[in-house]
Amino acid sequence: MKYVKVLGIDIGGTSIKGIVIDDNGNILQTAKVDTEATLGREHIIENLKNIIEELLITDPDIKGIGIGTAGRVNTNTGEVVYATENLKDWQGLNLRKRMEHQFNLPVMVDNDANVALIGEHWIGAGKGLRDITMLTLGTGVGGANMLNGNIFRGENWSSGEWGHVVLIPNGCECNCGQSGCIEQYLSGNALVYFAEEATNRTYSSGIMVMEDYKNKRKEIISVVEEYVNRLSIVISNIYNGINPQSIIIGGGVIESKEIWWSLFTSTLMKSGLKIDVRPALLGNMAGSIGAAKLILEAI
Ligand SMILES: [Zn+2]
Repeated sequence: MKYVKVLGIDIGGTSIKGIVIDDNGNILQTAKVDTEATLGREHIIENLKNIIEELLITDPDIKGIGIGTAGRVNTNTGEVVYATENLKDWQGLNLRKRMEHQFNLPVMVDNDANVALIGEHWIGAGKGLRDITMLTLGTGVGGANMLNGNIFRGENWSSGEWGHVVLIPNGCECNCGQSGCIEQYLSGNALVYFAEEATNRTYSSGIMVMEDYKNKRKEIISVVEEYVNRLSIVISNIYNGINPQSIIIGGGVIESKEIWWSLFTSTLMKSGLKIDVRPALLGNMAGSIGAAKLILEAI
């Protein structure tokens, strides 16, 4: 039996990841480049083209390209209808048109958290479920809602933007224009910010903060406890608002889950709610795997 092969690409604030995968879920190639997001749209597109070319060279029999990107995407047209400056000048770009024209292959584009959930539903933590909410704790905070096996994208493509639901009224300013958004408290960047504020040390990532928690560094314990507390509130709110079968937590912060997951679940249990909450299984591959599934469904 011959499998259909496609590319799955995930454009994040830090890196662009790509895979060649077949319709049976076998990953055949992987590649990664820096996004260099601050250098602006054309520069990011140049990096994107390079990674796609690199993967296409490895296999001449690619049938399509699926792309997940930060920002809100009109999946009918492939236009990025909203993006923060995490990807400079990204808003307004029709990524599908640009890439179809460039590579002469069918292209589908969706929000990065939506494709992460599609990936987890296909071959990860959400396999076999129908109704799932996902929260991704990475450079920013993303999210996605799946109802009856389909991504619910919303009227303006912003469904699942849990990162910009307000958690702390009049709290930290967010790059979306509001104050106190979940993203400002639960992203990996936020964790680093609060850790640096508490210790006067420099942290390169949320994982480094969690390592310090594991080593019982005094000032960090309360930072991580507060982080987990806030995460529990958000998960309870999602549960009460959506009541999905399961809530999957992904993103870079989940890579250190063995350090904080049990503290988190015991904190969450205090809410009295019986919530099926699971760590994502596909790690930083979820987005590219889901993007590939998106184009596989379309061709
Ligand atoms: Zn915001």
